[in-house]
Amino acid sequence: MKREINEECGVFGIYSATNQDVAGVVYTGLYALQHRGQESCGIAVCSGGRIGLHKDVGLVGEVFTQKALDTINQGKMAIGHVRYGTTGSNDRDNAQPILTKHPACTMALVHNGNLVNALVLRRELESKGAIFNTTSDTEMISHIIAGCCIKYGDTEKAVEKAMEILEGAYSIILMFCDRIIAIRDKRGFRPLCYGKTPSGDYIIASESCALDSVNAYHIRDILPGEMVIFDENGVRSNTTHCNQSTPSPCIFEYIYFARPDSVLEGKSVQQARINAGKFLAMEHPVEADIVIGVPDSGIDGAIGYAARSGIPYGIGFIKNKYIGRTFIAPVQSAREQMVRIKLNPITRTVKGKRVVMIDDSIVRGTTMAYIVGLLRDAGAIEIHVRITSPPFLHPCYYGTDIDSAGKLIASNHSIEEICKIIGADSLGYLNKDYLPLLISDDIDHPICRACFDGNYPTALYGGESKDKFEC
Ligand code: SF4
Repeated sequence: MKREINEECGVFGIYSATNQDVAGVVYTGLYALQHRGQESCGIAVCSGGRIGLHKDVGLVGEVFTQKALDTINQGKMAIGHVRYGTTGSNDRDNAQPILTKHPACTMALVHNGNLVNALVLRRELESKGAIFNTTSDTEMISHIIAGCCIKYGDTEKAVEKAMEILEGAYSIILMFCDRIIAIRDKRGFRPLCYGKTPSGDYIIASESCALDSVNAYHIRDILPGEMVIFDENGVRSNTTHCNQSTPSPCIFEYIYFARPDSVLEGKSVQQARINAGKFLAMEHPVEADIVIGVPDSGIDGAIGYAARSGIPYGIGFIKNKYIGRTFIAPVQSAREQMVRIKLNPITRTVKGKRVVMIDDSIVRGTTMAYIVGLLRDAGAIEIHVRITSPPFLHPCYYGTDIDSAGKLIASNHSIEEICKIIGADSLGYLNKDYLPLLISDDIDHPICRACFDGNYPTALYGGESKDKFEC
């Protein structure tokens, strides 16, 4: 609902010892990852040394009809992708997997994240004659890995060498004709984990909720900088690039992007959100009659706030589950109309009450103003907004669409001004010092929080890549 910020991708893969309906397994896994991208999706299956591919614009359930699945379903390996693309690039060409066919390297690739040196690398490749079909940095990663395959004649060596060149955020699954290689960037910005089904198939996924969806048990997260190779000999880890940089996993995965039933780096996403609500209750207490959360990611924060404050928790909104996501609407007027259809306050819960309303973030402020208006119309006498993240002040360059500072309301207004703009009686954000404590007892626990404090864990190469390339 009301997604003003979007994760740009989710990835999923299976390596099986036997021929089976691997496309069906990936289809199920992608369904579980649909929250990470809703504009396009695709599945590639490797069978008998050939890679079949189907991808298109649309949700998983729309793109993969039974007929579409039947064209690619049998094999030992398959990978899949869900993607969110920014305006102007939500076309089929940018959908993934990206397929590369070369005598030295036939492979399919799926990617979550954004390279920060994409523009520099692309110019270099183009100057050497490379031709690109898409505006995506993922195609460029394919070029680089294929180039390394030609040079080194060995896929594992090629990927290891390519990782020396790639800078920024990438969780990638590569499918060659004899193996799958899963890699995660040196700082581990975006999540990636693997597990195993009772029948012995290995599953790789952006989030553990996708392992659950295919009845795989979670083995572990792939380490920052690690390569994990799945082939006929089993599973092998290559840690050549591990421990080269301080890890900086994205804290906003816990606050908003990931599903609450997922566990990232051994930490429950739901518990992190409950913790955020508890910290908010400590930092921004208020006298009120009820605490409610904006579905979905505000709900656990509301439960935490209620538990710490002693104010009763209530269900304040009903979300219409049978409609596409707000952000798909291309213009603001359509977006607001969609919010009206998607979210309805429960008058019985809020009428005549002093309400604490928890949400995960405020981006432009327009959606929040509308939601506060809905509560007023439903009869709430006071509305105290509490946000389970600090104010957004800086763009993200690591695979989300948190926008340029000029479009972020907190970059241009004080908290008092924002409170007035959204029409609330009070407004409180999570203190950024609490961010590491959402997932650890240690305030120095390494995380990325650059969109809140501007301390980017990598060089930005002029910051150009955000405007030029997408996941
Ligand atoms: Fe996550 Fe923000 Fe860092 Fe982007 S800048 S990776 S959204 S914490």
